[in-house]
Amino acid sequence: MNLIISGPQGSGKGTQGDLLEEKFGVFHLESGQLMREAIKKETDFGRQIADYVNQGIIVPDELTNQLIEQSLVDENISKGIIFDGFPRRLSQGQWLDEQLVKKNSQIDKLILLILSTEETIRRLSARRICPKCGRNFNLITVPPKNDELCDDCGLKLITRDDETSEAITKRLEEYHTETDPMIEYYRKQGKVIEINGEQPVEKVFSDILEALASQGVPLRS
Ligand SMILES: [Zn+2]
Repeated sequence: MNLIISGPQGSGKGTQGDLLEEKFGVFHLESGQLMREAIKKETDFGRQIADYVNQGIIVPDELTNQLIEQSLVDENISKGIIFDGFPRRLSQGQWLDEQLVKKNSQIDKLILLILSTEETIRRLSARRICPKCGRNFNLITVPPKNDELCDDCGLKLITRDDETSEAITKRLEEYHTETDPMIEYYRKQGKVIEINGEQPVEKVFSDILEALASQGVPLRS
């Protein structure tokens, strides 16, 4: 079973991916985390990615796909993969489908977490980041264990300076421009499951499980 979990920033994709990983032993492929790891390793490849990320430019498909490809190994595919943060646009979805077909596999469903613009802004304003390791938290959806301190480093978390509501609104528009065509591509294949992402984490998760079960998606616990 391979799933894409999609939705605007702040929709709690990562949290739901973690819960699915925990419950079913699937491989949670978090593209943001893979990028941070690649950057940390300071290889040529990591440096290329860092150049784009640091300039706030979208990392081109050639690099992103290369990164994802490293995780498309038999071991992960046999467990099932939850794609989180990838694909973000149509070209990436098409590329991913081609790769999976080569491995006699496919995307079973795309879970779309629906969040209103107002709620997205509210949640993104609660985002915090660790100034040392770059780990992301959200005071509403992914709070740190200790009051505004990084779980890994113990440092005081900071607000990114691009988290103003104007900047958030602009990023949200960019997200829709970029991602909606990819969602439509999977919708035409009858694979999109829409979930109300404004509910509490546990309710979102149980809705996902219910929807997958009712659509006959095989999940092993
Ligand atoms: Zn940290």
